[in-house]
Amino acid sequence: MSACRSIIRSNSMDKTYNHQDFEKKIYSLWEKSGAFTPKPDKNKEPFTLIMPPPNASDPLHIGHARFVTIEDVLVRYHRMKGQPTLWLPGADHAGIETQFVFEKKLQKEGKSRFDYDRETLYKMIWDYVQENKSTMESQLKILGASCDWTRNHFTLEDVIIKIVYRTFKKLYDDGLIYRGERIVNYCPRCGTAFSQLEVDSVEREDPLYFLNYGEITIATTRPETIFADVAVAVNPQDSRYKTLLGKSATLPLVGRKLPIIADDLVDKDFGTGALKITPGHDALDFDIGQKHGLSTVSVIDSSGRMVNTPQKYIGMKAEEARRVVVEDLSAKGLIKKTENLKHVVGVCYRDKGLIEPMISKQWFVKISPLAKPALKAIRAGQVKFSTKKYEKISVHWLKNLRDWNISRQIVWGIRIPAFRCDGCLEWTITEGNLPEKCSSCGNTKLSQDPDTFDTWFSSGQWPYATLQTSEKGDFEYFYPTSVMETGYDILPFWVLRMIMFGLYSTQEVPFYDVVLHGLVRDKEGQKISKSKGNVIDPIEMAEKYGADALRMGLIWGALVENDISLSEDNIRGQRNFANKIWNIARFVLDNPKGRRVKRNKEDLLIFKELKTSIGRITRSLDKYRLNEAAEEIYDFVWHKFADIYLEKAKSRRQDAQKTLELVLQESLKLLHPFAPFVTEAIWQEGKDRFDSPTCISAPWPKKAA
Ligand SMILES: [Zn+2]
Ligand SMILES: [Zn+2]
Repeated sequence: MSACRSIIRSNSMDKTYNHQDFEKKIYSLWEKSGAFTPKPDKNKEPFTLIMPPPNASDPLHIGHARFVTIEDVLVRYHRMKGQPTLWLPGADHAGIETQFVFEKKLQKEGKSRFDYDRETLYKMIWDYVQENKSTMESQLKILGASCDWTRNHFTLEDVIIKIVYRTFKKLYDDGLIYRGERIVNYCPRCGTAFSQLEVDSVEREDPLYFLNYGEITIATTRPETIFADVAVAVNPQDSRYKTLLGKSATLPLVGRKLPIIADDLVDKDFGTGALKITPGHDALDFDIGQKHGLSTVSVIDSSGRMVNTPQKYIGMKAEEARRVVVEDLSAKGLIKKTENLKHVVGVCYRDKGLIEPMISKQWFVKISPLAKPALKAIRAGQVKFSTKKYEKISVHWLKNLRDWNISRQIVWGIRIPAFRCDGCLEWTITEGNLPEKCSSCGNTKLSQDPDTFDTWFSSGQWPYATLQTSEKGDFEYFYPTSVMETGYDILPFWVLRMIMFGLYSTQEVPFYDVVLHGLVRDKEGQKISKSKGNVIDPIEMAEKYGADALRMGLIWGALVENDISLSEDNIRGQRNFANKIWNIARFVLDNPKGRRVKRNKEDLLIFKELKTSIGRITRSLDKYRLNEAAEEIYDFVWHKFADIYLEKAKSRRQDAQKTLELVLQESLKLLHPFAPFVTEAIWQEGKDRFDSPTCISAPWPKKAA
């Protein structure tokens, strides 16, 4: 570490702290010192935190800056306490979101994903993501993230994919994976399903037909789908239909009886308030159908032609069938009236034609056998939530989770290792390799499912998958991890799935503590968004006011779990604190080294106050009450140390010097997790008087100074 001083500064300190002169140099000083890479020690309890992997394709926003700050504070604190501390960074491929952004980019160039084969498209998105990923990583460094870059991971690495495949195979072998029905957005012209993001919504006007269903009248814009009806539903609050519940309606043209059921999802004010339930061709109806255990009938096939209808309509294009069905209904007097309806429909982003909601068979995970052990672990306190509220929410979710559809109709992701036999149509599941033959009939012609896994299926395995890639025994030493810190909005999607998968795959919880943080809002308390024009760019702020000022702003005034209001003024204000500590240090360090003398009552008082503050800050950090710790150190440094002790010390400078140096040293340590750059910059200026070559590796203050 002897080269450090020369790269930082020498002799007397500058009058003001200019963060731009220091931050980059200090970050590389830390990196080179090896401080980010823990040294496992069997006699010490490690502190492990797996970073929620940001989307590889996005630059960091202010919400990321908050989590980076919170986690870095915890990590620096535990590292200083002497625990082998691992903060493992990573990036998520973020399947649908990334592919969508990439397709928008293609669109601007007058291209679409259909211009490329699967491998080419994947490679193109890969290159695009790698470029953005390195931007995201350099931004983490600007914010001061002290994560271990030697253990950086990406969700699409071969070693991670291998583990994800292994889990899928195990789930399949254990009977926890099945083929289930799911409504997809299908374009009959493109011959493919689209993700929700790829469907454009347009408003248009269509005739709304009021059809005679015997006891009840139904309004619909899609009379050609009546043959797929399985029920009629009304809202349970609708007094008009109370007496009809449990009775049946009659399907026009074919006379089939349909049960009349009640469901809250039915809108009383639309049409007649009675809805035909067609689970095979409508997403809402599909949900209602699932809830009531109704069957699913499809009358339009993947080429957009009619099937499973009276002979007359079979083979017609859906639009033609609509015209003919309306003629037939009309001829029989079954249309009571027709109105025009303005409504929003989904169209294909590519050909602008109508999207058909269609039933498709996809892979599902049975959730209940995974949720039960998770519930048990939470109830037994094996996983603790920093606030009771989130424990209650988690229990509620785990009790009510439905089976999880993990198939996605995109190429950007981990392709599902399921191979369908061209002969008997049965599936063979492997750990990724192409099977030699069908496991049912021995046929050697098989083709792989084109779908990829839902992104959460891989990120749900992140804590153990990342650690299991190591050949250095990381999994054995660092797992289960200490804390999972992430946004409360992804509690059900991510945190609970990690608990379920962790218990399933490793028989251990993936982490002991869960800390969920709130949102960053603007100074009026509004959500930050591009459309509101109130975006605060964390990198711009860090460059303007220093990363320390930004970090203090992101901690100050709100508990981690609460939303925080942030403005440029807050951040600017925090810069003053960095300057204050710099000036205090300049006063102390521009004087020759102090000697030990008998302490007077002011010395004793400042040590007593320091001791109290150390106790409070340590307790607050242990309870994840970071703002309280930050506010305590601020108050101690500014008011007790600078305003009172330092002023009095001016009249007995030489006698006070040793105390000044000691209190400065302990203050820098206490402040370091929050404001790592300025504290390290000062430390490097005065390190011949301090107890460690770097502040980042200095021992956390003990109560006795
Ligand atoms: Zn299309
Ligand atoms: Zn077969």
